Amino acid sequence: MAQWFAAKAAHPDALLFFRMGDFYEMFFEDAHAVAEALDLAVAHRGEHGGKPIPMAGVPHHAAEAYLARLIRRGFRVAICDQMESLEESKKRRAPTIRREVVRLITPGTVTEEALLDGGRPAWLMAVVADGEGFGAAWLDVSTGAFCTEAVGADGLGALLARIDPAEVLAGPGVVLAREDARPAIPPSAPAAHLARLLGVATLDGFGSFSEGEIAAAAMAADYAAASQGGRMPRLLPPDPQGGQEVLAMDAATRKSLEITHSERGTPRDCLLAAVDRTLTAAGARELAGRLASPLTSLAAIEARHDAVAWLLAAPPARRLLREALKGAPDMARAIGRIALDRFSPRDLAAIRDGIGRAGQAEAALSQRPGIGGGLDPEGAAPLPALLAAARGRLGAAPDLGLDAALAATLPPRLDDPGSIAPGYDGELDALRRLRDDARGAIAAMQMDLAQAWGIASLKIRHHQQFGYLAEAPAAVAETLLRAPPKTAEGYAPIHRQTMASAVRFTCTALAALDRRLSEAGAEAARREALVLRALRERVLAAAEPIWALAAALAALDVEAAAAEMAAARGWCRPVMTGRTDFCVLGGRHPVVEAALARAKGPAFVPNDCDLSPGRRLCLLTGPNMAGKSTYLRQNALIVVLAQAGMFVPATEARLGIVDRLFSRVGAADDLAGGRSTFMVEMTETAAILHQAGPRSFVVLDEVGRGTATWDGLAIAWAVLEALHDRIRARAIFATHFHELTALAGRLPELAPAAMQVREHRGQVVFQHSVAPGAAERSWGLHVARLAGVPRATLARAESVLKALEQRARGLTPLAEELPLFAPPPPTASPDPLLAALDALDPDTLAPREALEAIYTLKALR
Ligand code: ADP
Repeated sequence: MAQWFAAKAAHPDALLFFRMGDFYEMFFEDAHAVAEALDLAVAHRGEHGGKPIPMAGVPHHAAEAYLARLIRRGFRVAICDQMESLEESKKRRAPTIRREVVRLITPGTVTEEALLDGGRPAWLMAVVADGEGFGAAWLDVSTGAFCTEAVGADGLGALLARIDPAEVLAGPGVVLAREDARPAIPPSAPAAHLARLLGVATLDGFGSFSEGEIAAAAMAADYAAASQGGRMPRLLPPDPQGGQEVLAMDAATRKSLEITHSERGTPRDCLLAAVDRTLTAAGARELAGRLASPLTSLAAIEARHDAVAWLLAAPPARRLLREALKGAPDMARAIGRIALDRFSPRDLAAIRDGIGRAGQAEAALSQRPGIGGGLDPEGAAPLPALLAAARGRLGAAPDLGLDAALAATLPPRLDDPGSIAPGYDGELDALRRLRDDARGAIAAMQMDLAQAWGIASLKIRHHQQFGYLAEAPAAVAETLLRAPPKTAEGYAPIHRQTMASAVRFTCTALAALDRRLSEAGAEAARREALVLRALRERVLAAAEPIWALAAALAALDVEAAAAEMAAARGWCRPVMTGRTDFCVLGGRHPVVEAALARAKGPAFVPNDCDLSPGRRLCLLTGPNMAGKSTYLRQNALIVVLAQAGMFVPATEARLGIVDRLFSRVGAADDLAGGRSTFMVEMTETAAILHQAGPRSFVVLDEVGRGTATWDGLAIAWAVLEALHDRIRARAIFATHFHELTALAGRLPELAPAAMQVREHRGQVVFQHSVAPGAAERSWGLHVARLAGVPRATLARAESVLKALEQRARGLTPLAEELPLFAPPPPTASPDPLLAALDALDPDTLAPREALEAIYTLKALR
């Protein structure tokens, strides 16, 4: 228990997995917490302070599955292992086996396959304050990826949303909007500290970093090393992201567009899930990264599009490439485990197979696309730059000789025998032969001894206590004892034991064989471990080219998947420009379209969107459920997909590069934050008005819906004007305020559009198509009529509507709005009750007259 208390004191905020024989045991509060989370029983053992000690345990061989569940539930776990055998501790005369916390398992530091989500990176992020802004660093212990970035005071939220880390460390004074952020302190002299952790003399070769980036990087690397029991994970050189321009999207935009996570539906309702046709986990991670950080460099985007276009135009090459990728192992994560010395034979096999797949992929890219690919019969289409570079990297795969080294079928654990192939290491082969030939060697020895000793009935038997002994029947054994035969050296009988019916002998040759046999197994295991060590060293020495190989395969997977998606769904290559174009023909929403297809309902209706200069602001009206928010999101998603380097769900698209994307679609109550819907809406609108510029793209849904009508209309009006006159962003502005369409005359770049709706057999039918112009105003009244609202009321509503419309168009001076308050014109068949009601003017009635009026109205009923 003293050992337990010491370990627990060092890791007070982690569950302590305390190894005891074949189990990990948890005690006290940990036992209760684990029992509840994993549905285990709590037992009691021993006493502490006069009370029984609660205890719960899991078998150590099944620990990973339990750990996975605990990590997912947000626990941190400290693994306290036995560092020696019982014999060793006895030899030391220690009171108990030595135990140590060998590692900490937290969401951002896991490396085990079973604990990781294959398709998502597991970023550990560190943030420190740096002057006005922040330095941030994020690393993935499982793959070695390591990045840094310096952000301004207002950029941190967007960065957190973009990277979406599994675990965050907050430096002194950094307050993050994540409850699970852990306070941490950067090491002193962080640059030197980081260089030491990375095993380099200086960081100068890696690029230029801000002080904050260095401090954050050192803090993250330090935490990662500490979590691995002080063993430094293998990390790639930190990569400062400052130079790489990415499409800026804040947290609210990502949330509203559901890029890598879905807010409302199942996980497959996010963009990532809907467009993911990658075949490998590394490819899925790369795709998630690209969608989370689309590019803004025209050349870089077009390079990706070139790669997709080539693969789209060359189906045979694409098919071969995807055959090479299918089932390809996760080399980046395998090498991470190998570096941490926490690997299984399968991880070595992953490197071997990955290198094999790389060769296959290289061959696929070397096929001439003309062959059956529908390209120029000369096969003239040259490989675009990205694919050529990837092929180059695949061609440079290191030769590690793993094919010859690893056995065809591998044991699950490194300690189990049989990882190394026969024929690879002569000494290992010999030791194994000895181990495996035990029966044959004994049989041979038995024959030799029978002959040497002249006893045909001699048997060699194995005894728990004495090992192998030769046994002779008591009758013949006598002679052997009295007159030992002349034998070759080492074969002279040595008496061991006499029993009633038999006598047991050995000889130096048998004793030596016995020793060799019992040692052979252990010797073979030791030799195999040695060979594996050497293989590990060889693999680690080639870590950099293997990483490059893994990265090349992941990128190819994404590009081939994009081509596959384009081929299957008829997506097009967007024409990218450096101007402020935006013209999409036949655009679709990838997630809604897929959902409709799954539901086998009506097909998705494609829609155009033209926000070219001269009409860059689209004012969209239409009733609820007509498809407004789908339209808004689909155009924003087309920007994301295009700049991520994918093709887009449209028949044609011409897109000017967007620098910042803003999306506010759908109400978002920030109940936890204690802000009302309206407050949230206004805060987000303020962010757009401050940050958006002429190269931005904005989709806004129903600004001003959260407050009183005239307030809301006034705010929407002013926002629309600001977008048009000052910000000059490309934007789609959806609204319920039809009055805003009156602005079209005053704002030359405003293009009104409406969702089409029609009536069919008394039913309202949403066409889901967008057409120029304002929504048909009578639509609401139309529904009212269908619903049976009395004619007189409808007639009155119509006249009120007209007055409102005129006022909205600014045609009617205030004095002429009087009809709004005047009685309606008589209708064809006035309802007498309503007519009487309308004739009443409450303001001029005396109390008595009012009472009479009520009687009159009742009589008319
Ligand atoms: P609104 O924002 O106008 O209330 P939504 O965009 O939420 O409407 O769309 C409502 C529903 O209409 C969607 O869930 C979808 O099923 C369907 N829908 C929207 N756009 C289309 C379209 N272009 N084609 C087919 N169905 C659509």
